[in-house]
Amino acid sequence: MIKKSFKKLICLLTLVALITANFAEVSLLEPEPPPPPPLNGLRNPYVISPYVDIDWETVGRYKAGIHNHSNLSDGLNTIEEMLEEAKKRNFDIFSFNNHDILFSAKDIAALSETYGMLLLPDTNEHTKQIPRDHINSYWSNYVCTRAAGTTDVEKMRHILSVVQRRGGISIINHPSRAIIMNEFMDVEKYVELYRDFNSLIGMEIVNRVDIDGEINREVWDSVLALTMPDRPVWGFSNDDAHHIDHLAHSYNVMLINEADELTEDAVRESMENGTFIPYSRFEFGGAPLPEIVSITSCSSKISLKATGYSQINWIVNGEVVSHGSVFNLGVRYNKDKPFNYVRAEIINNSGVVYTQPFGIGLCCIIEEGSDNTDCEVCGVCDCPEPEPVTTVTVTSTEPIETDTSHETTEQTQAKSPPAGSPNVSRTYVFIVIALSIAAIVVVVLTADRIIKVAKSMREEEEEETTD
Ligand SMILES: [Zn+2]
Ligand SMILES: [Zn+2]
Ligand SMILES: [Zn+2]
Repeated sequence: MIKKSFKKLICLLTLVALITANFAEVSLLEPEPPPPPPLNGLRNPYVISPYVDIDWETVGRYKAGIHNHSNLSDGLNTIEEMLEEAKKRNFDIFSFNNHDILFSAKDIAALSETYGMLLLPDTNEHTKQIPRDHINSYWSNYVCTRAAGTTDVEKMRHILSVVQRRGGISIINHPSRAIIMNEFMDVEKYVELYRDFNSLIGMEIVNRVDIDGEINREVWDSVLALTMPDRPVWGFSNDDAHHIDHLAHSYNVMLINEADELTEDAVRESMENGTFIPYSRFEFGGAPLPEIVSITSCSSKISLKATGYSQINWIVNGEVVSHGSVFNLGVRYNKDKPFNYVRAEIINNSGVVYTQPFGIGLCCIIEEGSDNTDCEVCGVCDCPEPEPVTTVTVTSTEPIETDTSHETTEQTQAKSPPAGSPNVSRTYVFIVIALSIAAIVVVVLTADRIIKVAKSMREEEEEETTD
C-alpha cells in the first residue's frame, strides 16, 4: 500500500522536474536585453590595412633583395657572381648598395637583360658620413662625400634631404648597430626623421640572418607606437649580402597586382605603400619558411591565412597580445589602454614571416541631428555578420584554416556563444534534470528503507502478539 503511494509520488516528482526544466530553458533562452549604451560621439577603432587592395588570388609575388654588396666595396664577389647566385635563388628584383658607391641606371641596363632580373637604379648605402646609422637610397643619383652638420642626426638629415630633393627614396639600415654603439635607443630621433622626410619609407627590421635580433624590431615597434596610424614605417628584411652564401635568407616579397607588370614603378609603389612581405631565416639554409596565402581585413578584424607555420603572434607596442589566424580588434581594443597599430609574425622552426603594421584609426559615431565633432565619422561596418551558432556540426566555408590549435581565448570567446544563447541554457537544463533525477533516487532509496523498517517492526509486533 505504502509502496504504491511512493511510486505515484516518484512519477509526480519526475513530471514536476521535467516541467521545471522546460520553464528553465524558456527563461534562459530569452534573457532581458541590456539597455543600449549612448553612441553619439563614441570613438570607434577600425583597421587600416596596407594590403586592402591586394587581390590575393591573382597577385604577382616577386622576390626582392634590396640590400647587397659586391667587391666594388667590401663584398667578396663580383657583380656577375652575385647576380648568378641571385638568379639561382629565384630573385626577381635585386639591387647593389655598395658603401658610398653609386650603382647607376646605366650600370643596370645590360645586366637586367642578361640575368632576367629587375635591377633597381641609382642605389647605394650611405656609410662614411654616418658610420652608426647607415641609409640605403634608391632612385637617387647621389653619393655624399661631405654631409653638412656636426652630429650624426644632422648628417642623416642632410643625406635624407638631398635624396628626397633628387626624387629618391630611402631606408634606415640596421638601427640596432647605432643603438649598440651609442648604448642608447634614441626613438625620438627616428620619429622626427620619419615625420620630416616623406621619402624615408622604412626601416631594416632584419639584417642577414637576423644578426642583431630583436633590437631592430624594438626600434620599429617604439617608432610605430608614436607614428601610426598617420605615418606608417614599413619594415624591410635584407640579406645585406657581402658574399654569395649570404643570399636569400632575408628578403621581401613584393605584391604587384596582375594588371601591373613587374616594372620599376610597380616595385617602387610596392616599397612606398607597404604592399610587400618581409621573410627572415634564423640560420643559413634550412627548411622552407611559412607562406602567407592571404591577409584580409574589415573594420574590426584582420584574418590571415598561411601555410607551413607553427604559430602566429599579433604584436602591439612590442608585446605579443594574441595568437592565431584572426586578430579581433573588437575584442582586443581597450579604450582605457588604446593602441594605434598591430602587426603579425608568422613563425616556424626555420624563421619568421612578418606583416607590415596595420594602423588602428578612430572614427566617431554621430547620431542623426547632432552636431558633428572634429572626428572622422564612422562608415558602415564592413565586417560580415557572424554565422549563427547551432549545435549541429558546422561545415566551414573557409577552404584553408590551417591552425586552430594556437588560437587563444580571443578566438575561443569569439566562437563560443554569448551567455543566454541556446547552448548555455541547454547546459542548465541538463543540470536541472540531473539534480531532479538524483533527488528522486535519494527519495526512492529512503522510502524503500522506511518501508523495510516498518515491515520488520510490524513482523516483530505480530511475533510478540503470537507469543
Ligand atoms: Zn659592408
Ligand atoms: Zn650598413
Ligand atoms: Zn650594407
